[in-house]
Amino acid sequence: MTSVLSTPGSAGSASAPGIDLGPAVALSCRECGNRVELGPYYACMECFGPLEVAYEFTLRGDALKQRIESGPANIWRYADLLPVPADVAQTPNMNPGNTKLIRADNLAKELGMRRLWVKDDSGNPTHSFKDRVVAVALAAARKLGFTVLACPSTGNLANAVAAAAARAGIRSVVLIPANLEQQKILTTAAYGGTLVAVDGNYDDINRLAGEIAAEQEDWAFVNVNVRPYYAEGSKTLGFEVAEQLGWRLPEQVVIPIASGAQLVKVDKGFTELGELGLVEPTPYKVFGAQATGCSPVSEAFKQGWDVVKPVRPDTIAKSLAIGNPADGPYVLDVTRRTGGAIEDVSDDEVIAGIKLLARTEGIFGETAGGVTIATLRKLLASGQLDPEAETVVFNTGDGLKTLDAIAGEVGPTATIKPTLGAFEAAGLA
Ligand SMILES: *Cc1c(COP(=O)(O)O)cnc(C)c1O
Ligand SMILES: [Zn+2]
Repeated sequence: MTSVLSTPGSAGSASAPGIDLGPAVALSCRECGNRVELGPYYACMECFGPLEVAYEFTLRGDALKQRIESGPANIWRYADLLPVPADVAQTPNMNPGNTKLIRADNLAKELGMRRLWVKDDSGNPTHSFKDRVVAVALAAARKLGFTVLACPSTGNLANAVAAAAARAGIRSVVLIPANLEQQKILTTAAYGGTLVAVDGNYDDINRLAGEIAAEQEDWAFVNVNVRPYYAEGSKTLGFEVAEQLGWRLPEQVVIPIASGAQLVKVDKGFTELGELGLVEPTPYKVFGAQATGCSPVSEAFKQGWDVVKPVRPDTIAKSLAIGNPADGPYVLDVTRRTGGAIEDVSDDEVIAGIKLLARTEGIFGETAGGVTIATLRKLLASGQLDPEAETVVFNTGDGLKTLDAIAGEVGPTATIKPTLGAFEAAGLA
């Protein structure tokens, strides 16, 4: 077996320094289990399968719980479970996480559910869950010697990368589809990095990013060449939900799917908490949500396939518009293993979902949130999701970034002259 700390091809140089990424000890192939040293690698050299971070955790149980509970009020309280150096909180970063877990009794009542929570990740610094994954990718990229932070993005990742690079004082290069929501283009451009609008969809851009990454050795494409580290950031969503529930796992979670990494890593987070003795390893079901206009994983689930057939996306849920999702097969594994399901909803249902969440709970989600709420409703209607079981639904982005989606749908109740007479005449009292 290859020593996890030696460089391939440099056998004998046992003194090759290890990269300090905390409890992370190696990268391992998700398909064949082959292990390689920590480094800027993302595909297995034996079988081309995706690599993921392997750990040797030193703390567990109450000792670990105490470390977490006395840590900072952001994702770095879980640093002992992430591929980051121990001093990660001291380096300039966005300090994401610690978003609200909101008891959604009004929405639960409307849907006929007993106990429902919304994990509202729009509360992150750039208003989506992407700040979590970028923070972990940045910490690893620094240790791996990269000098530029880059990404292909469906929108929210662009915001998160540009902002994190600005805070860190390094250059960012962000590639986005030219037809992205205006709000996401402007909020990214404001951070001052290199922003490239590409005439193509996300899947075209993702391919281009892979080609650029092969040329630019100093560029860390967070979701391409440092993807194994990036993806681990989503575990913190699972960690937070469990800690906020009082170190318990919920019985059901509903999670939106773009590449599928978030869903897969929330499951990994729940599993690790059980294995490390931080929660009772109680059973839970993981449900996935897609927009019908980009639903390759939902399609594969329903057809009983093990592989995901790529599609050309056409939906207002642009943040989820990945037609060839990298983690699709693993999403199928997780949802099937846990007894969950995957469902997809129309753009009209997405808009209704946005309005339902806003009207019942005062939470204005973006289109991805609309997808998730609408999917929750559909899974209840079909009997796949149990209304009696404690459920957490994820709102992963902010409605202010997708205003066009509801621009024709909501507006003033009335427009009047500034007189009491006009107010009364409009029947508003
Ligand atoms: C990127 C994104 C997701 C899904 O992310 P994956 O890990 O790629 O599945 C969900 N919600 C929002 C708002 C996003 O921007
Ligand atoms: Zn392999």
